Amino acid sequence: MPLYEYDCPACGRFEVLQRMSDAPLTKHDCGEKVKKVLSAGAFSFKGSGFYATDYKKSAGAPPCDKAKSGACQGCPGNKAA
Ligand SMILES: [Zn+2]
Repeated sequence: MPLYEYDCPACGRFEVLQRMSDAPLTKHDCGEKVKKVLSAGAFSFKGSGFYATDYKKSAGAPPCDKAKSGACQGCPGNKAA
């Protein structure tokens, strides 16, 4: 199950395990409305997407062992630069 990150105005960032088919969380347990956020790893991946993609292709190796979980967008391997 993929891990999703949310931002709560009262509690800050927190992560929730959800099925892909689950509706996004709109409220935290504390009652505050929450917003889904992209992980920092996803942002840095976008920033260096060309190089990261090329490197992955030529190296022929998965960037981390999370690939099978579908959570590789937050992979630490993408933050190397
Ligand atoms: Zn909260």
